[in-house]
Amino acid sequence: MTNTPRALQKLIEQFDRLPGIGPKTSEKLVYYLLNRPKEDLKEFADSLLRAKDEITVCPNCYNFSDRSPCGICSDRSRLKDMICVVAETADLQAIEKTTDYNGVYHVLQGNINPPEGITPDKLRIKELTDRISRDKPKEVILALNNDIAGETTTLYLSKLLKNQNLKITRLAKGLPSGSEIEYADDITLGYAIRDRKEIK
Ligand SMILES: [Zn+2]
Repeated sequence: MTNTPRALQKLIEQFDRLPGIGPKTSEKLVYYLLNRPKEDLKEFADSLLRAKDEITVCPNCYNFSDRSPCGICSDRSRLKDMICVVAETADLQAIEKTTDYNGVYHVLQGNINPPEGITPDKLRIKELTDRISRDKPKEVILALNNDIAGETTTLYLSKLLKNQNLKITRLAKGLPSGSEIEYADDITLGYAIRDRKEIK
């Protein structure tokens, strides 16, 4: 990489920091973008900045939204006594697509992952326990990925929320091991929600 111009190297490093993108893909994306007309790049950069300006985080559930509270929290037809806990907004979107869930959500903004420095205090867990004490939901559904970080988070939360006069459930074992909710198909995910199991 010693012959790579500095500006190019800097840009590749920026892409490399994005989740799920390795150095090879970063390079590919950067070369692709540099081959686009300047107007396209301007539109891309503008959309990014506009989204950052217009999108806010819901103060109740931590979902990304263009209003506060978000559309789901302010929807009167949604069941407020059922909170589905997800790691990311992308997981919330995947569950919404199944149309099998009519409660509200709580977005943790990540999974517990100590090797990567993501300890419980870095996530919206305190906000979740505060919300449970305040809103007194009947059920909390732990809809976390079927991988090590997701399982660690499920285990942590099920212990933390125990004995709170609350039903704690998790998705049915329909999702393949190691899989991510975000990429599960609607039918499998819909089944996993409907057939959720109580954690005792
Ligand atoms: Zn919300």
